[in-house]
Amino acid sequence: MEESIPNWLMQRAYLTPSRIGLVFREQSWTFAHMKECVFNFAGKLSSLSIAEGMRVGILMKNSPETIWAIHALQQLGAEIVFLNHRLTSEEITFQLEDSEASILIYHSDFNDIAHQIHGDYKGISIYSQVEIEQCTVKKFANVNEFQLKKTCSIMYTSGTTGKPKGVLQTYGNHWWSATGSALNLGLHSDDSWLCAVPLFHISGLSILMRSIIYGMPVYLMEQFDEQKANALLQSGKITIMSVVSAMLNRMLNLLNDEKYHENFRCMLLGGGAARLHQLEQCRDKGIPVFQTYGMTETSSQIVTLSPEDSLLKLGSAGKPLFPSQLKILTETDRNAVAGEAGEIIVKGPNVTQGYINRIEANDKAFVDGWFRTGDIGYVDKEGFLYVLDRRSDLIISGGENIYPAEIEEVILEMDEIKEAGVIGVEDAIWGKVPYAFIVSDRRLEEVDVLNYCRTKLAAYKLPKRVIQIEAIPRNGANKVMRRHLLQFIHE
Ligand code: ATP
Ligand code: MG
Repeated sequence: MEESIPNWLMQRAYLTPSRIGLVFREQSWTFAHMKECVFNFAGKLSSLSIAEGMRVGILMKNSPETIWAIHALQQLGAEIVFLNHRLTSEEITFQLEDSEASILIYHSDFNDIAHQIHGDYKGISIYSQVEIEQCTVKKFANVNEFQLKKTCSIMYTSGTTGKPKGVLQTYGNHWWSATGSALNLGLHSDDSWLCAVPLFHISGLSILMRSIIYGMPVYLMEQFDEQKANALLQSGKITIMSVVSAMLNRMLNLLNDEKYHENFRCMLLGGGAARLHQLEQCRDKGIPVFQTYGMTETSSQIVTLSPEDSLLKLGSAGKPLFPSQLKILTETDRNAVAGEAGEIIVKGPNVTQGYINRIEANDKAFVDGWFRTGDIGYVDKEGFLYVLDRRSDLIISGGENIYPAEIEEVILEMDEIKEAGVIGVEDAIWGKVPYAFIVSDRRLEEVDVLNYCRTKLAAYKLPKRVIQIEAIPRNGANKVMRRHLLQFIHE
């Protein structure tokens, strides 16, 4: 018998039907009401012949209907392909074809792109949310139990280091991710999680999964708005919020000397490297930041730092969640000693079984049950992880390792510099040397940037060139695409 757990939506609606599960704008839904909405939506999807094992793409915004669609597809046993609506139609078409999705559900705001996709990929049928709502409800046999090894969702990586890869996320991955998070953050009876990150990304989806599993309300925002987010955090209604560094920045800029409500207990900060300056700012304002490290492949956080450690371990991503483990492997595949940098490898029931259609990537990524993250970091004597950078972006210059993130961090300390990206460029003498790319509202002199860097960085880490450009190339997840910076070198 395969391991299974009860259908989590049914179980939640059965255990705590009258508890609030969702708040959106001025409206709220109990878990019993949510179940009704989901079953109604599932009945309509069933009339479109969506059933067990089919792959269905969803191109939707953060809205209650998206939540109904996600749970409805789970009730029908279909696999959900999450699509980022900031991508181009070509990029989305690739993900739908690659995952062999046969149906696309979309919000009418994405009408044009959905029709473009339909034109390029004949194997797909497309239905707008409005069309689905007009369908008549058809009876369906919902899934009673969720098999832990069954695929629940397929989510593409952000494509920061190469073409996005389709990550298989099972029911078990989501279950263990939610469990690991609760064992670390604890579960309070008044907990409510503010979701202002996209539901198509694992940071957003994982909040939904936790809500159903914990019986906790989610405050959903259609789009991140720093003013509304600050107001909610000051109201006492929210206890936990997930953010990336850019969101936190906007909230801090607006907050001035005000404080958040004492009920607010966790600002979960992930998705990329945190800026030290920002962590210090939060410390000074008494904001409880939990730095975290995770990825699409680990179904959200796998390593998290609690505030009680954050003062002593500023900049660390923390320790693994209880069900998970982490190790550092050196270039020669030896276990690194404390303080020694190498590739971060992780293991745990929240880690993916693999990528779809990527034999080579799967072969490289999995070693004896461990997953190679492609990130470099080290673990200190007390077992805290420090993430240094992506392995593919490491610059080896005259035998020394240089991490672009360290140089970027220093450059970004300069007030006039809004964005920065650093890459390694071929060099006849050193092998590779760092080049820095900066964005500023006014013309900056290379020498001024270098003079500042000189006060903070060893000579071998100094950028050989500092090139001012209009904007740093970013992907649909708003991450810096360092590999696209090469095009800005003219001579
Ligand atoms: P791709 O795999 O296609 O290149 P991606 O890795 O950016 O894209 P995601 O899964 O969205 O796709 O991002 C996970 C990555 O984000 C991690 O592997 C790591 O490089 C980075 N990251 C996440 N948290 C942190 C952190 N706390 N510090 C530094 N980097 C982080
Ligand atoms: Mg990745």
